[in-house]
Amino acid sequence: MSVVVTGVPASPGIVIGPVHLLRWEVPEVPARTVAPDDVEGEIARLHAACDLAAERLRKVRDRVAEHAGPEEAAIFDVQVSICDDADLRVSVETLVRQGFAAEKAFDLVLLEWREHFGRSTNALMRERVSDLLDVQIRVLSILLDLPDRDPVDVPKGADAILVTHDLTPSLTVQLDREAISAIATDAGTGTSHVAILARSLGLPAVVGLRDATWKAESVATAIVDGTHGLLILDPTPARIEEYRARARVEAEEARELQRYARAESVSLDGVRITLRANVDMPDEAEAAASSGAEGVGLMRTEFFVVGRAAMPDEEEQYEAYARVLRAFAPHPVVIRTYDIGGDKLPVGGFPHEANPFLGWRAIRMCLDQPELFKVQLRALLRAAVHGDLRIMLPLVVSVDEVRRTRLLIDEAARELAARHVPHRADVPLGVMIETPAAVLTADTLARETAFFSIGTNDLVQYTLAVDRGNVQLVDRFTTLHPAVLRLIARTQAEGDAAGIAVSVCGEMASQPLMAFALLGLGIRQLSVSPRSVAAVKHLVRCISVGAATAAVTSALAADTAADIETLLRERLRAELAQRGDAADGLIALLDEHIVPDHDDSQ
Ligand code: PEP
Ligand code: MG
Repeated sequence: MSVVVTGVPASPGIVIGPVHLLRWEVPEVPARTVAPDDVEGEIARLHAACDLAAERLRKVRDRVAEHAGPEEAAIFDVQVSICDDADLRVSVETLVRQGFAAEKAFDLVLLEWREHFGRSTNALMRERVSDLLDVQIRVLSILLDLPDRDPVDVPKGADAILVTHDLTPSLTVQLDREAISAIATDAGTGTSHVAILARSLGLPAVVGLRDATWKAESVATAIVDGTHGLLILDPTPARIEEYRARARVEAEEARELQRYARAESVSLDGVRITLRANVDMPDEAEAAASSGAEGVGLMRTEFFVVGRAAMPDEEEQYEAYARVLRAFAPHPVVIRTYDIGGDKLPVGGFPHEANPFLGWRAIRMCLDQPELFKVQLRALLRAAVHGDLRIMLPLVVSVDEVRRTRLLIDEAARELAARHVPHRADVPLGVMIETPAAVLTADTLARETAFFSIGTNDLVQYTLAVDRGNVQLVDRFTTLHPAVLRLIARTQAEGDAAGIAVSVCGEMASQPLMAFALLGLGIRQLSVSPRSVAAVKHLVRCISVGAATAAVTSALAADTAADIETLLRERLRAELAQRGDAADGLIALLDEHIVPDHDDSQ
């Protein structure tokens, strides 16, 4: 019988395919002992398992090197060397000689090593903890003869749906896009970074499914409906047919919307809205440049780091930033300095934090590690000779952070000058407005910065004290909360007063209803995911900003996010209805949150 699991729509699109269930967690290891006569055989089994794991890892490394590049592949070399480590094998052998079964001995030693590395004061050693964990899972799976569910080694052309509990951004960037065609996770929300990354990669995704991994056990085929947030397990032939038809309709609608990609972004009452794209990885630049966006409003540089064994050097970063600038020339490209931390960590992560979103993240981490930060700043200043680059700082809470960054930019420029490397020292510096502190001190920040960009994903999280990645709180993550809308309006007003540009680059800007609200709040610049550019442009062309302003003025008198949403939806619907057939596609987008009816017995 087919089972429909409802989750959170994370990245639109429909995929019908085989299920690749991934349980990337240390398996339960039963207690087992070996008789003295069997010890040598058990040791041979141990070495064979380690060798097999190393062989698998080498294959994965080669594939990742081919698809993503040698830097991304380097973490697998580290893991191969763990499998081959003589000390490790000797420690396990010693336990086997004491009568422990190979899997128990391996489990115990790895546990001890992880604890030891995790306590290290050396950051590089701490970073090896997650590699040890990966090796532990791989080798134990072989020793326990568990089903082969490698996360990054799915056969090419499988068009599989990856069903897993949670996916770290680092695992997501390593996925082979020719093997995995959709993602379904128990955890996560629409603004968690896995969802953001899935949208960037154009991979349909549903997150927040809670118990999909249990329900998908021994299920062969599934449908991911990323548009409505559904995972349908074991679909009947009739259901598959229905979804094939839906997929054709969605593809046709997307093609229709593409007609607006090249159109002017001007509202019916003649207000020009600047539409830029969010680019999360350098190799998306060319595709994003053809979306109809007038430049990049947010390039998240950290996705280019997560999942890697080492930070990219100056040269590699320079090439990557220059590539994006060239792709979008002559339009502006806003590159955000590393926003590492929270749920975006490089391999191995950082010391454990009780509250990572309130922790050592983004500009805080960069300022505390000036040598690491300056590598990025030098690469940015060098890339700036290739176009209209602007630097943006994430998670700013105080103007002090801007001042300290400026000193580092000056140092970086002096270092480049000393090396006689072409660069620009006068790159505009802006900040993300993502915290109530930044909004409430926007007047101060505006005196020392060139622009503001409102990151609504974090602004909502920090204003409402609602973890953006917690599926339990999805209904409380109310972007249209009056507090959030007032903070956005205030930021725009402070920007206007200081004469600096304000844009919105959070996920909010990509959704037609929210974009309507933003225009009504006075926002005139939006940065959206590349695949939303055409739809948002179409929206801009179908409405009058005067109507949006009137709608928001009325909405702000309402008490709750739900009332505000109802009112805005009614107003936008009425506005679009006046456009007749021309707005059909948009009305369909407005209805995307409405889950189609499903008869589970089908
Ligand atoms: C935001 O917070 O809205 C934002 C754009 O940044 P990120 O999603 O990368 O935190
Ligand atoms: Mg943010």
